[in-house]
Amino acid sequence: MLEIVKDSIDLLEQMFYNQGMDAINRIKMLSAQMSLEPSEEISAIGGAACPKLSPRKEEAIFVHPAVMPNGQRIQLLKTLLTSACERNCFYCPFRAGRDFHRATFTPDEFAQTFMQLNRKSIAEGLFLSSGVVNGGLRTQDQLIDTAEILRHKMGFRGYIHLKIMPGAERAQVERAMQLADRVSINLEAPNTARLQSLAPLKQFTDELLEPLRWVEEIRRTQPGYKGWNGHWPSSVTQFVVGAVGDTDLELLHTTERLYQQLRLKRAYFSAFNPIPDTPLENQPPTSPVREHRLYQASFLLRDYGFSIEEMPFDGTQNLPLDADPKLAWARTHLTDQPIEVNRADRQELLRIPGIGLKTAEAILQARRQGLLRDLSSLGKIGAAAKRAAPFILLDGHRPAYQISLW
Ligand code: SF4
Repeated sequence: MLEIVKDSIDLLEQMFYNQGMDAINRIKMLSAQMSLEPSEEISAIGGAACPKLSPRKEEAIFVHPAVMPNGQRIQLLKTLLTSACERNCFYCPFRAGRDFHRATFTPDEFAQTFMQLNRKSIAEGLFLSSGVVNGGLRTQDQLIDTAEILRHKMGFRGYIHLKIMPGAERAQVERAMQLADRVSINLEAPNTARLQSLAPLKQFTDELLEPLRWVEEIRRTQPGYKGWNGHWPSSVTQFVVGAVGDTDLELLHTTERLYQQLRLKRAYFSAFNPIPDTPLENQPPTSPVREHRLYQASFLLRDYGFSIEEMPFDGTQNLPLDADPKLAWARTHLTDQPIEVNRADRQELLRIPGIGLKTAEAILQARRQGLLRDLSSLGKIGAAAKRAAPFILLDGHRPAYQISLW
């Protein structure tokens, strides 16, 4: 979901004119090239539009209406320091040797350009990644230098999400954490074997998993840290889904371990889409429904107390596409053993389709006032009552409901 900020283009071009049109053109190009990378919780509010529908997309700067952990909505610029890269990941449009127009900023140039966008309220927050040039170490230094300039020379107090490069050192990870609100390391694949087929120059354990471990180790061993905003940043990762035979079981197994052991905030799943002129260009695209099911399952693992063993995988170790995983689980486990809503604890309530985190709390509150006896009282406190109906008892009785034909 993204919003194309075009209103101020003329103004911006004037603004940049004396400093050269080059910087604004590079930001346009790099923000467009990054527009499909999932990152923050992207808000549906804010006039999101598909860039293909824009008649002048080549003149747009892409900013994304994003929701911050505190609920604040900001305009997030997602971009790269450089779209040049010396690595050759098989799925990636930026891979070395691929013929397309690339652009590069120095840290100083980028910080100045971003701050001009920020002062005009075009970009309030920043997600900064980069292709790898002269090794991961050197590239990480460039990202850190950019964040240092923004924070300490230019006084930027807004949101920064910094990417950790494959091959970064522990001290660099710690410095990035001192400057950012969120850091991310994309695992890309659920294990070493799959990564080998997807990005043969990346090392799953040493280059990708280890920095994620450092992030958690640093947070755990320095709990009193009061950095620039009073706490350590959250950490996230991303997987490319379906390009090299990876199964949902593999992806969710790794995701569950990341949530449990490394306190990952979120795993992002990016359905594979073949890019022309890459080694995987003839692979079929992955269904976006599969991506959606993986998100649903990952939230069950993270927030609802489900374990990987309870996920309703089919014989191919994938989730069914035709039902969300909670509903599929409930059909097997709750149809003959419905849950009594008036006696269930929070964990049991969360197993019921149509009851989410907030609704479970609301039910526990409402029960203090008296028994819940019908679907309408359940609906009034926020449950999707018809969805829940086949799997519950209300005061000992199965609620009357109409079976949906569709
Ligand atoms: S290292 Fe990153 S930018 Fe470079 S080819 Fe791989 S995924 Fe693309």
